[in-house]
Amino acid sequence: MTRVPTETASALGVLRATFGYDAFKGDQEAVISHVIDGGDALVLMPTGGGKSLCYQIPALVRPGVGVVISPLIALMHDQVTALEALGVRAGFLNSTQRLDEQRDMERAALAGELDLLYLAPERLGVPRTQDFLDKLQISVFAIDEAHCVSQWGHDFRPDYLRLSLLGERWPDVPRVALTATAPPATRREIIQRLGLGSASTFVASFDRPNIRYRIEPKQQPIAQLVQLIRAEHDGDAGIVYCLSRASVEKTAVALVREGISALPYHAGLPAEVRSANQARFLREDGVVMVATIAFGMGIDKPDVRFVAHLDLPRSIEGYYQETGRGGRDGLPATAWMAYGLADVVQQRQLIAGSDGDAAHKRLQGQHLDAMLGLCETMSCRRQLILEYFGESAEPCGNCDTCLNPPDAFDGTVPAQKLLSTIVRLRRERNQSFGAGQLIDILLGRRTAKIDQWGHESLTTFGIGTELADPQWRAVVRQLLAAGLLSVSTDHGALSITDDSWPVLRGEQTVQLRQDVVTRVPRASRKKLDSRGVPVSRSAAATTLGDEDRDLFERLRTWRAEVAKAASVPAYVVFADSVLVSIATARPTSLAELFVISGVGAKKLDSYGEDVLLVVAAG
Ligand code: ADP
Ligand code: ZN
Repeated sequence: MTRVPTETASALGVLRATFGYDAFKGDQEAVISHVIDGGDALVLMPTGGGKSLCYQIPALVRPGVGVVISPLIALMHDQVTALEALGVRAGFLNSTQRLDEQRDMERAALAGELDLLYLAPERLGVPRTQDFLDKLQISVFAIDEAHCVSQWGHDFRPDYLRLSLLGERWPDVPRVALTATAPPATRREIIQRLGLGSASTFVASFDRPNIRYRIEPKQQPIAQLVQLIRAEHDGDAGIVYCLSRASVEKTAVALVREGISALPYHAGLPAEVRSANQARFLREDGVVMVATIAFGMGIDKPDVRFVAHLDLPRSIEGYYQETGRGGRDGLPATAWMAYGLADVVQQRQLIAGSDGDAAHKRLQGQHLDAMLGLCETMSCRRQLILEYFGESAEPCGNCDTCLNPPDAFDGTVPAQKLLSTIVRLRRERNQSFGAGQLIDILLGRRTAKIDQWGHESLTTFGIGTELADPQWRAVVRQLLAAGLLSVSTDHGALSITDDSWPVLRGEQTVQLRQDVVTRVPRASRKKLDSRGVPVSRSAAATTLGDEDRDLFERLRTWRAEVAKAASVPAYVVFADSVLVSIATARPTSLAELFVISGVGAKKLDSYGEDVLLVVAAG
């Protein structure tokens, strides 16, 4: 077996020899050298930005063991496995271990046998742990998911408040706090609560150029989703977010019925089922996880090819964090959402009916308005998202509105018809109704409910036949999103707002977006290539020609076997991006294989010969 000479323990040497990468990404180099020199750092990078190396490399270069505080106990085992596969000596301490396992781990750390130790935050409250850390030579403290210390953020963990202890008790150990959630208010709170006032802050661009953002009108959401998976993400790993446990269950069952390997995940499932499903998602290729937002934080599976939302997220922050779980390996990924009138009504009602005080409701309302603005925008979605995070950007060319610009139409007259129907019902009959009845009135439909209320005698009955039902729903949705309509908490009755009057009086026009209505075709057949082999529609392979794709698929099959035998996630063996590079480069020697990005010394040792055999077999 070839021995690869280990370079000196410089940051770049470790990057190349251990991780197999040629160059640092973005701010990595600046952060790493600052921390190696003993400085504290706050690192704000989007998901997939490469935060892990910002503390892993200092831990490997500085003497002693790097202590990583992470709230994600369920993932520590996998994180450690992935590091071990790279030849890094890593371990963890958390409540899932037996006492003797914990003792063994402590002994290994004290004996200098570890480079990295993952620690659950609640353990810091235990005097025993503090004494143990006192005896340890610590190279760096990493505080992962640092936004968990912010009480205003959505992931607050009380145990994180303890972390101010680190700087007080071990003032000489550099600390690096990392997060992918960074609205300015959260950032300030992290600095204050963790005592990072003199830390350097590194803010990366939040752009994720490989993710294509798409938001479609919701018609038959599950059928639309199946269509997306069949046409573009056959056999790919993906996450589907739903608002409720019931819709998670229903969607997972529907996908399985369509032959898609889907699993449910929500807080109502027994812990064993949740962790079994999570393990399958991480380990097997091409599993689709249907989940509530309880799922996903810290899931660093690099090859998630799509993230779908079947319900409207509450804020752009949440949406961006969830969609950011796709495409961490930098290969093309899809962020897709189905969005409709019912979503707007539901979210507005949830806010109005929540127990928070007026200020809290106003804040939630602002978050929702920004999210609705993103859904209804006619310009580049990415530009809008980045502006929301305080970055300026040009239209991206990789979102639906850039690729397929929607048409606008003058919706002033339909808006007036709808608003005046609402005003008349209120004035003449002291009634209010939801969207369904209002649209039936405008379309002049003689339903039982129309007859029951005598609505056929309204002067606006049947005056809206120029639009069909789905178009009227789009009008209502957009007026709601724009604040020209409001919705009651209980029955979803619509009423006008102060802003509606200028429209009703003809002083203000209303520009609406023409929804691009997609027809959902019946089940599509597999596409075959020139040799009659089904074409993989895996988005990871889209850049490859037929022959290379063939090799890519064989490498995937080999990887699946190796991963299964070692019971590790497939990406711990090699990421998709590495397989794509191998399939293109077709190395014929270990030396050629070693130059490929993502192939480090340990992996060359473990898998090099095998990979060359797979390549040669073609
Ligand atoms: P984050 O924690 O910020 O979400 P990760 O640390 O998981 O991101 O890194 C995301 C992906 O990018 C991983 O697959 C990682 O191996 C890869 N990566 C990180 N740094 C580099 C680099 N310098 N060159 C190439 N790939 C990198
Ligand atoms: Zn765009």
